[in-house]
This record gives sequence, structure tokens and C-alpha cells, in this order.
Amino acid sequence: MHNWQADFPFHQHHPQLVYLDSAATCQQPQVVLDAMQDYVIHQHANAHRGAHGRARAATQAYEDARTRVAAFIGADASNLAFTASTTAALNQLTTAAIDWQAGDEIVISASEHHANILPWQRLAERLALTLRVIPVSSGTGQLIEPEQYLGPRTRVLAITMASNVTGVVNDLASLCKAARAKGIRTFIDAAQAAAHVPINVAELGCDALAFSAHKVYGPTGIAALYMRPELWQTMPPQNLGGGIVETVTFTSSELISSIQKFEAGTPNVSAAVGFSAALDWLQQTQQAGAGRYLRNLQQKLIAALQQRPQLELLPSDPNGTPIVSFYSQAFHCHDLALLLAEQDIAVRAGHHCAQPLLQHWQIPGVVRLSLGLTVTEQQLTQTLVALDKAMALLAETGPLTESDEA
Ligand code: PMP
Repeated sequence: MHNWQADFPFHQHHPQLVYLDSAATCQQPQVVLDAMQDYVIHQHANAHRGAHGRARAATQAYEDARTRVAAFIGADASNLAFTASTTAALNQLTTAAIDWQAGDEIVISASEHHANILPWQRLAERLALTLRVIPVSSGTGQLIEPEQYLGPRTRVLAITMASNVTGVVNDLASLCKAARAKGIRTFIDAAQAAAHVPINVAELGCDALAFSAHKVYGPTGIAALYMRPELWQTMPPQNLGGGIVETVTFTSSELISSIQKFEAGTPNVSAAVGFSAALDWLQQTQQAGAGRYLRNLQQKLIAALQQRPQLELLPSDPNGTPIVSFYSQAFHCHDLALLLAEQDIAVRAGHHCAQPLLQHWQIPGVVRLSLGLTVTEQQLTQTLVALDKAMALLAETGPLTESDEA
């Protein structure tokens, strides 16, 4: 078995740390850091803005990265914009040229991250639209009869491909097909799915799809937003400024007509280079069995946690992303996370930017263990020992956190 952990300088510098928070942000392999450093040393300048050699090199590096990132999801580079984050991409999608009428509907699911709720909520408030929510089963984590929610007034389906709380993957190909047959725009949040689920936008048949580099072992500060040409060509950019204009006077301006119109201002070229390198590395690991490796660890972790009666496991998906989440009636999630952190186990606890999901299921905050290629089986054993210690300590001393804190 390949030792992927050795690819991460983070691990070499922090060998004692068990990093179980890859669903929030992945650590970056050396090849990603090398690619970015190489770019900064040899090619760095402002892309799309100069004729001198370095400016041309920066432009080339940026556009090569666009081509590479687009290929990862089966898209053409001409339909892929870089944004600062998945959050920025989802906000941008609210400007889609749709002839909204009061009472029209936007459909989301109960599993959405706040980033795919708040922008639609604001649009709905502004235009008197209705936000409808597809329920999600607390037993399986699956959407419940999603097609029923696509009605005659539905104009947009904005939905996550994988839950950041459970890792359960939604079957979006059939849902997108049903939506498109009714003329509904389909926007996919692939932030959690991208590192673990093969994505092909043509096969999915979606209108737009977004994912962040930092969840596929790349840097923070950059994400990809694929859009079908009919969507982006009629959609106004949210940010306006340099680099996206044909002509500007004090009274009017004419924007460029390519996908770069969504990238006003100086682009984050080194991050784009890192994004591209991360996807090269990720695909190599996938070809070498990374998916099986992570799924195996996930199943072992689930089996071990199921042996602990104080813990209630959230649903998981054998074909989903490698997340295991649980809560306890006996122990507060933040107490467990804190005591794990004191033993060098990095996990996340709370509502995971999915407060409505936990309300929907009427459960308190959860502890999430999310696996990435920085983790080994031996580290999971260490985690279980640390968890047992934390629970024993809390049983003895009582809670550290007030019980109503999320
Ligand atoms: N959607 C999902 C499902 C996520 O997990 C996240 C990140 N936690 C986001 C959107 C937002 O991504 P970013 O923070 O990179 O904008």
C-alpha cells in the first residue's frame, strides 16, 4: 500500500498530530507547494495585463490551470471561471438571468451547507420567492422523494452532491434530468464530493457546479465554477472592475464576452497553479487505490464506534465521502473535541455550517471525523484510545461546556 502520508510536509513537521478534518480543509502535498513556489519564482506577474515575458508566462500558467481544472470535471475551459471559494461561486449563481416572478420557487435540500442556503434565502426575501426544502432521512441521510419538490413554479434546484455532515452522496444525475425536463436550472455544490466522487458535468447534465481547491488537497482562496454557456453568457458578473472590460467611459462600460468576465481584479494565479497540481496528485492517488483505502478506514472506524453505546452515529454511505459523525446524549460534542485536541487528534465539532440539518433531525451538535490521505490505520486506533479516555474523564468530572451551547 502506498504511504500517502509521506507526501505531506505538514505530517513531517507534525508527526504526532492525527488530522481528521480534511472535509473542512485538506493538508497540501509537497508537489502542490513545489508547483506554487516554482510559479512564484519563475513566472509570477499579473495575468491578462501585460505584454512582457513574465506577464505572458503568468497568463499561460493561469489558463493552463483553467484547462486542467475543467478537464477534472469533464468541462471545457471556456466554461469554467475561477472564484475565491465555493461560497463565492454559489453567491454568483444567484445573479443568473431568470425572469423571476413573486411566488416562484428555489428548491434546496435539508443537507445544505450554509453557503448554499444563505444566498438563496436573501434572493427569496428580495424577490418574494419561496425556498422549498427537500427533506433528508435521518436513518439513511438520503433525500426523500426529491422529484416531488420540483413543481410548476420551481425555477432553480440548488443542491449539494455530498453532505458535509454525513458524507452521504446524492444521486444527482437522475434528479438533474428530471429538473431540466421541467425547465429548472440545476446548480450543484460539489465542495465535499469533488475529492471522492468522479464528476462529469456532461453526464450530470447540470447547469452549474462549484468546488473549492482546499478540499481537493489544493490551496485556499480559489475554487472552480463550471457553467453551461447559456447560463454564463446571460449572467452578469457580481464583481466589476479591471480585467473584464472591452471599453470603459465615465458613463458606460462594455464587458468582455468570455468566462473571464467573472474574474474582475488580479487573479490568484499561484493558487490556480496549486489547484491544478493538486488535481494531478489526487488523480494519481485515485488510480493507486486511494478511494478504497479511505473507504476501508471509514468502515473500520464506523464498526469501532458502533461498539460504543454512549455514541449515536449519523447515517453514512458506503459509496459516499469518508466522513464519520456522531453525537452523544452523555457528552457534549465540544467537550469531546476539546479533549481529543488535547491528545493531538484534530476533529471538528458543532453544527458544521449545516444548522438547519441538525434542527431537521432534532439532534445536538456532532463530532465529525473526516478522513484524508494524511491518515493511517494506526492513527485511527490512537483516535479510539483518545476518545475512550475523553469519555472516561468526562464521566468522572462532568461536562466542561454548558449543555445548550451549539
Ligand atoms: N458547501 C459544502 C458542502 C461545504 O462543505 C463547504 C465548505 N465547508 C462549502 C460549501 C463552502 O466552501 P468554501 O468554504 O470553500 O467556500
